[in-house]
Amino acid sequence: MAVGAYVIYVSAVLILYFSFRDGLRGGYITTIITVAYYFYIIYTRHYSGKNLVSGIEATAILATIYGLVAGIIGWLKETIDAFIEREADERQRLQSIIQQLPVGIIIANSKGVVEQTNKQLEIILGSKLPRGLVLGKENPIAVEQNGKKLSPEHSPLYQSLLTGKPVKNKEFNLHRPDGKRVYVNVNASVVHNTRGKVIAGASIVNDITQQKDLEVRKDDFVNMASHELKTPVTSLKLYIDALQRIIKKYDDDRVSRTLDNIKNQTERLQELINDLLDVSRLQTGKLHFKKEVFELNALIQEIIEGLQDDNKPQQIRFIDKQHVSVYADRFRIYQVITNLITNAKKYSSEDKDIIVRVKRLNGKAVVSVQDYGIGISKDQHKKIFEKLYQVTDATEKTFPGLGMGLYISKEFIKRHKGTIWVESEKGKGATFYFTLPLQK
Ligand code: ADP
Repeated sequence: MAVGAYVIYVSAVLILYFSFRDGLRGGYITTIITVAYYFYIIYTRHYSGKNLVSGIEATAILATIYGLVAGIIGWLKETIDAFIEREADERQRLQSIIQQLPVGIIIANSKGVVEQTNKQLEIILGSKLPRGLVLGKENPIAVEQNGKKLSPEHSPLYQSLLTGKPVKNKEFNLHRPDGKRVYVNVNASVVHNTRGKVIAGASIVNDITQQKDLEVRKDDFVNMASHELKTPVTSLKLYIDALQRIIKKYDDDRVSRTLDNIKNQTERLQELINDLLDVSRLQTGKLHFKKEVFELNALIQEIIEGLQDDNKPQQIRFIDKQHVSVYADRFRIYQVITNLITNAKKYSSEDKDIIVRVKRLNGKAVVSVQDYGIGISKDQHKKIFEKLYQVTDATEKTFPGLGMGLYISKEFIKRHKGTIWVESEKGKGATFYFTLPLQK
């Protein structure tokens, strides 16, 4: 009996082992061999009568139990194997995708340690980003932004891991070990698990050198073209002035009106060329300010006198005048105010007045230009200060312009450490504000 129990115990262990090792096939083969062995024992021991019946019965029961166990364990083993294989395939597929993506990829763990990069990143950087590099502590190559050298803490991926927020469209200039300069656009974001915990961070690095080169060439072209246009247009205006003086003697109304029109159009052309030159100077960093102390009120008064058309009902009213001295580039501020008032005239009807105010507020000079014209919807308030942006809905289409004025104004004010903004609603007029630091 003890030997019988031992045989049952060993067979059960063997069935379990082979089911675990080889799955259903292993389990069933061991079960068949075991059952065959039991019959072999019955046969060699010459069981007969009651013994034979109970031996066959016991073998049948054991065969069923072994079959069930082999089936369950074998099926579990095969399911787990298939799952692991699928996971491995999935990982392999993901690896291949990451490696073959046409953008540079950096993946770091939640502590900012680089865990994975891809081939494209190596091509962009000109060298491999070492695995295990700690973001925020070391920069493998020199990085610049707007001409300033950057320390490792400015890494977008590090910043994203630090704040938990995505960092979008940061542009950098890289100095590669082979001496080549590369412009990159970088996006970074953190990865959360299902419980919202940060488990990793990923960064996408795009090589935008070609695009940047093209932009530089385009800026150079605009700069050159506007310079070339400036000289003939200035001469043209001088000739028109001379011609006007000559024509005056003949007192011919029609000719002098035509000449006035030619002069106006030439002045408009001059303004456009100057705007183009300013945009190009802003782009290439060649804009220089000549700062001096001056009275803002006097400047505004002078501008209004120049822009007020006495033949039209629209009045440019200068109210709330406070005596304010600022330290700024007078000509550039003149351009900003002129642009705001010109826009106010352009985007409102001729019978609606324009109101200009200047005051001191919290240690700053605040200038505002208010009109009662077509107004600007809230979603456009930021965009209108972008380069070449124009609102293009049906009411706006009829107005001429290139969308450079507000961009130039914003850049001028920004470089004077001031701010510019608009308060407006569609159809309810607009008030543009800008601030300038007061004279120290
Ligand atoms: P431009 O007037 O040459 O188109 P700007 O940069 O001066 O370019 O203005 C950008 C856009 O902002 C304009 O196209 C216009 O849609 C809107 N805008 C500017 N000033 C006003 C204003 N006072 N009222 C309504 N819309 C305005």
